[in-house]
Parts: sequence; C-alpha cells; structure tokens
Amino acid sequence: MRANEFIRDFTNLISQNYCYFCGQIEEIICHKCIKELIQEAKIQYLVEVPVLSMTLNNPTMSKLISSYKDRGEANLIVPFSKIISLGLKYFSKHQHITIVNVPSTAQALQKRGLDPITLLAISACKFAGKRFTHDPSLLQSNKHRNDQAGLNVAQRNINMKDAFRANYSLTKPVIIIDDLITTGSSLRASVDAFRQQKINVKACVVMVSHH
Ligand SMILES: [Zn+2]
Repeated sequence: MRANEFIRDFTNLISQNYCYFCGQIEEIICHKCIKELIQEAKIQYLVEVPVLSMTLNNPTMSKLISSYKDRGEANLIVPFSKIISLGLKYFSKHQHITIVNVPSTAQALQKRGLDPITLLAISACKFAGKRFTHDPSLLQSNKHRNDQAGLNVAQRNINMKDAFRANYSLTKPVIIIDDLITTGSSLRASVDAFRQQKINVKACVVMVSHH
C-alpha cells in the first residue's frame, strides 16, 4: 500500500460512522433506518391538536435521545433534526409557520449548560426549509417547575399547570417541537399558553412517543 493510500484509509477510519440501528458504516442513523423508523410514525390528538410522533416506543431511540440531551452527543443533532423536519413538512402545506420548542427547566439548562431541544428545533427548521422560522422568545417559562422525570401523572399535571406563557400574539400558526411525549402534560401546557394569546397551534412534532 502506498503511503497516500494508507493515509486515506486512516482518515476514513477515524471519520467512520456506524449506524446505531443496523451497524452499517454510513451515518450514525443511516437513511434506510430513518425510513424504517418513521414508518412507525403516528398521530394522536391532544386537546384537539395533532401530535405526530416520528417513532414509537423505541428503546434505541430513547437511549440516543438521552445521549444527545444528557451526554451532549452532538453528532446526533443531524439525524434527529432531519427526522423532525419531515414531520414539519408533513403539516405545513406551503404555509409560513413559526416553530417553537417546549422550554427546558432551569435545572436542566443549568446541568447541561445549553439547551439541546432549542438547538434541535433550530436545526430542524434549516432542514425543513425557509418557510419555517424558529422563534426562541415566543414561548417562555411562567413559573418554577421541577423536572418531570420521577413524577406521576397527577404530579406532572400540577407541575405543568400554567407552566408557560406566550409572550406576544401571532397571526401565523405554530408547530411545537419536543423530544418525547410521555403523559402529554408539557405539550398541553404549551398549547394552553398559545390559546390564551389566541395563537393557532397547528400541530406538535416529537421524536418518540411513550404512550
Ligand atoms: Zn442503519
């Protein structure tokens, strides 16, 4: 093997990505697996708003989401935001749409030092196209709340009651993005905040449903 060939091989090796689902050497979630995953996509309704879960209760996907959120596995942002962008385009029908994400708790922001769900929403808009605009200041926390993990359904509902407010009114419809839906209390609180400002919530798009 000539030296330059060897060097090329070596570069391939260090930049190689294995698909987390099938092990194929390509991207960290390969195109084939993205296609398969989103075949499970389903819509459920929450206070009359369609909630599109791009994947169903999928253990690998759930693990990847916590790697992304809690361990800062930054290269997951590309496949994740591609998947979310497919959901955004599904609902848009050529309209201009404002994209918001469910705000993280102060506790989570402090622990992570950045907001992975905001970054996901920004990146998903880029993949989805120009008619999607992320608005980071529209939906804000309205009170102190705890992380939802470890709370039962009743506690989650109390924790999330009046959790958010919409800072201003909008004529454009919004789509809300989040990583996952468990009981739906965070999405419901977001929808409530928008309805108080008479903002039309077109849909919610999440990566995983734990319903
Ligand atoms: Zn794959």
